[in-house]
Amino acid sequence: MPAGFQELSAGRGFVGRLETGSDLVAEIERFCLEHGVVAAQVTVIGALRRAAYAYYEQHDHRYLELSSDTHHEIVGFTGNVSLRDDKPFLHAHATFADAFGATVGGHLLRGCEVFAAEVMIRELSGVSLVRTFDEETGLALW
Ligand code: ZN
Repeated sequence: MPAGFQELSAGRGFVGRLETGSDLVAEIERFCLEHGVVAAQVTVIGALRRAAYAYYEQHDHRYLELSSDTHHEIVGFTGNVSLRDDKPFLHAHATFADAFGATVGGHLLRGCEVFAAEVMIRELSGVSLVRTFDEETGLALW
């Protein structure tokens, strides 16, 4: 196995719907905190009233924050949960489509307001996923 990789096994699974008006990122992190989920794969399908996301500027080591109050479908969402500062932290990237099918997307931020969201959380057992600061990228990585 390559250095830095760990073998995982399937843990618990959770599936449910978030309330309209809730914050997509904050609600998933809160759920994981309440249920002791410290490592997981997360997928979401649904729609947002407001999208908040970012692009990481690799030269400057900073996020360029973007947002849109246009209603969007969540057409792609991939994310994971790991520990950052001893708390479950959701790292997710998503693609959003507007009424014309045009898409935007990026690194999800707090501030995504849910219209409807079906969430699936698959806990990962037997692994330790902890984020620490990485000098080369400027990011908190495993
Ligand atoms: Zn990211």
